[in-house]
Amino acid sequence: MNMDKVLWLELFPDEFKIRQRAVPLAYLPLGICEPHGQISAFGLDTFKAEFLTQEAARRWGGIVAPTMNYHVHEIGPSARFLEERVGETNPHMTSVPSYVFLYFFLYQLRVLYNAGFQAAVVLSGHGGSHPDDLRKVAKHFGKFTGMRIWMGTDFDLAAPQFPGDHAGKYEISVLSYLRPDLIDPSRRVLEDVPGSGGAFALGDDADEASAEYGQSIVELCLERLGDIVSDLAEGLSAADESRMLGFEQTEQIWRELVGAESWATLQPRPGQPPVSEHSRWKQGEFGKIRYNYNLEDEPKSAE
Ligand SMILES: [Zn+2]
Repeated sequence: MNMDKVLWLELFPDEFKIRQRAVPLAYLPLGICEPHGQISAFGLDTFKAEFLTQEAARRWGGIVAPTMNYHVHEIGPSARFLEERVGETNPHMTSVPSYVFLYFFLYQLRVLYNAGFQAAVVLSGHGGSHPDDLRKVAKHFGKFTGMRIWMGTDFDLAAPQFPGDHAGKYEISVLSYLRPDLIDPSRRVLEDVPGSGGAFALGDDADEASAEYGQSIVELCLERLGDIVSDLAEGLSAADESRMLGFEQTEQIWRELVGAESWATLQPRPGQPPVSEHSRWKQGEFGKIRYNYNLEDEPKSAE
């Protein structure tokens, strides 16, 4: 058997059971396609999350679930970010509003639970206001099921030693280290081409990026991830393949969540300037949790 395989997608059923019995912990990498300047490939956030989770699974055990490559953007604080940093050019993003994502995220946790895992590391390479909301979903799910869940970003892992950014020194360095083939500084000339999107959300200090700096960031992230995995795995119950969290119970968790929580992704940050009326991003400035079609009443507190 190839013990180096850590991806759920690549495992045979007997290999899956062996890995899961050894460490009943799943990793869920979250990424997105979004612009990181003309000099970087769209998938920067995904490559960070995938590398870190796969390397963690190789070092400390566990199984890496399929990457979620559609993520929260456009909505709440992101609307203003997009107007300022991307402008009105089509950014070719794989974004969904948070009220779609959060509901699906709950069902992704259900997948991990029903597959028998007792713990999960949810690592997002995409930052913003959504981690607050995802942690609320994870916390409620954990309370309901007993599953231990850590949710955070690589920026959380690297802080405070390495300040996070969007397509600046931090992010461009990390991709320069992980996938040098997907960084090409010579493409900065495209910033002056009409219709190109200009700097396309490139950070001001991207010129200071280096693969060496990226390596230091990645190594610190892995060190922190190691601590998180060992905390989660300590005294963990054995994998349990026999259980099945039903749809009704999952809907109950959702109902309780929506009724109890306020959501960071559904409005601008306090004090944030408004999105311009003419901007294509105006529609996402305020959102609201939409309800599943089979729920009769909408809790009032979610307005
Ligand atoms: Zn990014």
